Amino acid sequence: MRRRKHHHYLKGSLWCARCSSRVWYVPGKSHTGEQHFYFMCSGRQKHTCDLPYLKIAQVERAVEDNYTTITLSSDLRIRIAAAMRAAVTDSGTTDSLMRTHSRDSSQH
Ligand SMILES: [Zn+2]
Repeated sequence: MRRRKHHHYLKGSLWCARCSSRVWYVPGKSHTGEQHFYFMCSGRQKHTCDLPYLKIAQVERAVEDNYTTITLSSDLRIRIAAAMRAAVTDSGTTDSLMRTHSRDSSQH
């Protein structure tokens, strides 16, 4: 069986600041049907966390911001609090990912 591997330098290195679960690198589809990868808190599967799916670019940007304040060890672990804040404020980019999350639909 041929298995396509997807690598991201942050894969396996992210932990949710909301629930302390590991954050997974998962495939998903955009509203145009294209495949994209997202970061998803594993707590979502257990329904213990409501962290939205985060776009790669969103997380990368948050991590870059954190590079200035986090001393990276060989065991790279980055909490994605900054990305989560971005997910809350930047509703435009998350709308397509969070169709069930309609609380913010009034502020367009
Ligand atoms: Zn979480």
